[in-house]
Amino acid sequence: MACDQYFTKCRYCGHQILMTMNQQNHTWVPCDPELYRFTPSGGPMTYVTGEGDVIRGHKDRDGKYFGYRSHRRSCIKWQEKGL
Ligand SMILES: [Zn+2]
Repeated sequence: MACDQYFTKCRYCGHQILMTMNQQNHTWVPCDPELYRFTPSGGPMTYVTGEGDVIRGHKDRDGKYFGYRSHRRSCIKWQEKGL
């Protein structure tokens, strides 16, 4: 269940982020703390659910799934560094 998560601050921009364990390959994924509704559809976005499943899909206000989005995508400072 949703135990493999903790809040921290982005080392690049200082925003609060939620580290979530990817249960598929057991790596930490830095996520934005907002939860989005989505529908699995293979893309274009990647979501990490509270259970640590990584699912590609699209944003959907009526979606039955909830997931976090990678902070790496939304962090301006991170993208400036080209990491
Ligand atoms: Zn950041």
